[in-house]
Amino acid sequence: MRFRDRIARFMYGRYGTDSLFYFLWVVYIALVLANVFVRSWVLYLLSIAVFIITFYRVLSRNTVKRMNENIKFQKMFKGVKGWFSNRTSRIKQNKNYCFKRCPNCGKVLRLPRVKGKHSTRCPVCHADFNVRVWFDKKK
Ligand SMILES: [Zn+2]
Repeated sequence: MRFRDRIARFMYGRYGTDSLFYFLWVVYIALVLANVFVRSWVLYLLSIAVFIITFYRVLSRNTVKRMNENIKFQKMFKGVKGWFSNRTSRIKQNKNYCFKRCPNCGKVLRLPRVKGKHSTRCPVCHADFNVRVWFDKKK
């Protein structure tokens, strides 16, 4: 019990754990596990750096700064997650549609999958361009 009290007193006013902590912890474990097979100094030093950063954040007294870091991390993570869910949704639709980038504005357009050369108009910037679809709809 005394030990727990001491820990509680030690952690008082310090930042503690958050989602960025768990992410860094997973990165650290992944680096350590990878290094079991690779055995490189670079990975070793990198894993130690991640370890130090992780616990520096937990023990930090500058909670506002740490909280802002966590918010930034969560925003970035959302972006990465969005990118992946976008890809998987495209793969699911791949059978009936193909996805082409507009050469003028860069917007990705979803077009019906019909084999051959077609001309199309971008709904965003109204530019006309040609697309070539290599594979027809799979039956
Ligand atoms: Zn466009």
